[in-house]
Amino acid sequence: MKIMSINAGSSSLKFSLYEMDSKEVLVSGLFERIGIEGSKYVIKYQDYKITEEVELKNHTDAVKILLEKLIELKIIDSLEEIDGIGHRIVHGGMEYSKSVMITNKVIEDILNLSDLAPLHNPAHILGIKAFQEVLPKTPMVAVFDTAFHQTMEKENYLYAVPYEWYTKYGVRKYGFHGTSHRYIAKKISEELKRDDLRIISCHLGNGGSITAIKDGKCIDTSMGFTPLAGIVMGTRCGDVDASIIPYIMEKEGKSAGEVINDFNKKSGLLGISMKSSDARDIEDGVNSGDEQCILADEMYVNSVVKYIAQYYVELGGVDVICFTAGIGENSPHTRRRIIEKLASLGIKIDLEANNVRSKLTKISSNESSCLVYVVPTDEELMIAMDTLEIINR
Ligand code: AMP
Repeated sequence: MKIMSINAGSSSLKFSLYEMDSKEVLVSGLFERIGIEGSKYVIKYQDYKITEEVELKNHTDAVKILLEKLIELKIIDSLEEIDGIGHRIVHGGMEYSKSVMITNKVIEDILNLSDLAPLHNPAHILGIKAFQEVLPKTPMVAVFDTAFHQTMEKENYLYAVPYEWYTKYGVRKYGFHGTSHRYIAKKISEELKRDDLRIISCHLGNGGSITAIKDGKCIDTSMGFTPLAGIVMGTRCGDVDASIIPYIMEKEGKSAGEVINDFNKKSGLLGISMKSSDARDIEDGVNSGDEQCILADEMYVNSVVKYIAQYYVELGGVDVICFTAGIGENSPHTRRRIIEKLASLGIKIDLEANNVRSKLTKISSNESSCLVYVVPTDEELMIAMDTLEIINR
């Protein structure tokens, strides 16, 4: 069976088509600048890569061209070969703790949650509607970033603010990257042939989050009401004292929205290094003795270490720490720095094994009190697997 995994943004559409028996990616790519001048697409299949500039007025144009290309390139013979489509949805609120078949009610719910994810949820609907228009009979599934975190207990997901903010407006911790953390938990459980694991999953990309997982269920996670909370990120500040907001509003004559925008886009590694949000540039800066990069690196590592230490206690000890996403998979430097700071918990790194990129690998030494693994994430595959499972029911 063939399943398409879709991540629709406001002006983009990312796709992967899987052959589910072999879990092989038949074709993948990206439509960019939809509705903006200079729109184009990239399609990758086998050893080929096709890039073309083409007018894309809306997401429906992108979907039509995508499907025409799949036939033209003989990746599929007919559109009926696509058995299902899985859509990544950032926010499922409190309603969705699992992936679901997309119905009119689900579309309405996703739209109603736009207040909580204004940049993402409306864009996902554009993607869903475009596929509904072009492939009206193909079943579609919604896979929510927040769903995996719905198993958190109230004491972990509530903020100590007036309780009515939660009951009236849904102010609580939702958590994000759930599809990635769920994939990591599944993958490492299969690898170690155990379901009863205490896992700390470290998704360290441009955005980053740490999740505590027990017996396959999320216990706690570092992102919060929005993806701004938690560890230091590429351009996001992570946890800060909210009183900074009115203080900076007054000092700089900014609105609350502008300060939040600075928290989201001008902070984190970028804010401290004053150079780049990219971990590779920060690492280069550290190696050349740049003081701001050294400070940014130190703050980044400390923020991750503090969450790992907190979750170590919350989980009552840990069986395995997993590193994933751009930095987690590819930066031996960052992993080494993090693990070395966890020495007081008896966690130890195998420096040689740590010299690895994007490959499922044990990187803890044999003397370590818990296992440490690099586990490449695959959110697209997880979306396709959920879709297959739901349409087969
Ligand atoms: P993601 O959001 O998962 O795509 O991750 C993006 C982050 O991964 C950026 O900060 C990149 O600098 C970082 N990254 C990618 N490749 C490497 C690498 N080889 N070494 C260090 N960081 C990397």
